[in-house]
Amino acid sequence: MTELRKKARQAMDYGRLPKGRPSRTWGGRGSDARCAVCDLPIFPDQLELEMEFADQGTFHLHVSCSYAWFAERAGTDRTEPYEQRSPAVRRAVRVQQRQRPEEPGSRT
Ligand SMILES: [Zn+2]
Repeated sequence: MTELRKKARQAMDYGRLPKGRPSRTWGGRGSDARCAVCDLPIFPDQLELEMEFADQGTFHLHVSCSYAWFAERAGTDRTEPYEQRSPAVRRAVRVQQRQRPEEPGSRT
């Protein structure tokens, strides 16, 4: 297990990051917000993913940290294997600040 995945696992175990599925995900430039996985700021020259959860608020993650989080989540949530989530992240990064109404990764 990589260092990032350990951090992602801890973030979920300590309740700093939800284990569920985000209601919205989008990407863009870093906003100097702290990453929910590695606890470091996400600088404007880095890509940031923003995950919105209906009842838990919004979380900011580095793209690499979000991969680790998805991978860790895949172990606990069998309905969303990492392989299916990964393209959704790349798509979210591509569309940048634009919000997506439907949940990415719902492709059958
Ligand atoms: Zn991070």
